[in-house]
Amino acid sequence: MKYKHLFFDLDHTLWDFERNCTETLTELYYHFGLEGHGIVSLETFIKTYLHRNEIMWEQYRYGNIDRDTLRNKRFDFVLYDLEIEASPDLTRALSEEYILRSPYKKNLFADTHEVLTYLKEKYVLHIITNGFRETQFLKMDSTGITGYFSEVILSEEVGWKKPDSRIFMYSLEKVGAVAAESLMVGDNLDVDIAGARGAGIDQVYFNPNRIRHRAETTFEIGALVELKGFL
Ligand SMILES: [Mg+2]
Repeated sequence: MKYKHLFFDLDHTLWDFERNCTETLTELYYHFGLEGHGIVSLETFIKTYLHRNEIMWEQYRYGNIDRDTLRNKRFDFVLYDLEIEASPDLTRALSEEYILRSPYKKNLFADTHEVLTYLKEKYVLHIITNGFRETQFLKMDSTGITGYFSEVILSEEVGWKKPDSRIFMYSLEKVGAVAAESLMVGDNLDVDIAGARGAGIDQVYFNPNRIRHRAETTFEIGALVELKGFL
């Protein structure tokens, strides 16, 4: 067996970010009566958030904004994008409620438990995430997946964020692995796949929406259960 250590990304790879985010935003929309603030529809609110959130995560990854801006200012930008005049009290309350509620959402991608149970028998499993300690552990605990993983490597504690190859090198050293026996599973071609390749680690691109791309990846899957086919 070539591989010994499997490293997983968490958001959008095991934890179904889009579904969990949609559930949270739906609650916030009604809780804060956002239709009364001129937001045309719940769908528009969700779409705008997902778009803006992605942009801000990318800015955070490359060091253009800090953690507090990402966490606390997201809804200022979302409401700005929607051309809604909102009070700072409202945007702050939205940010706080979002952070309070979303980590407790329980949607994982299909067969996550089954696949992790299978893999844990054969490999040592770890997480490498750019997410924050307090939210990532809540997400893992509330979905019951914490026990599958030996190490959870958080970029904010390591000091380098994916795709910086140093976080991958750090992770190998931390768990006592070598690149040739390791495999990184993630949903983001730039962050997880290119990042792992830069550190000499084979990669599995999790591509549930089957987006077309030209990137080179060691493996590609559309569903987690496909991992059992070659691992
Ligand atoms: Mg991800």
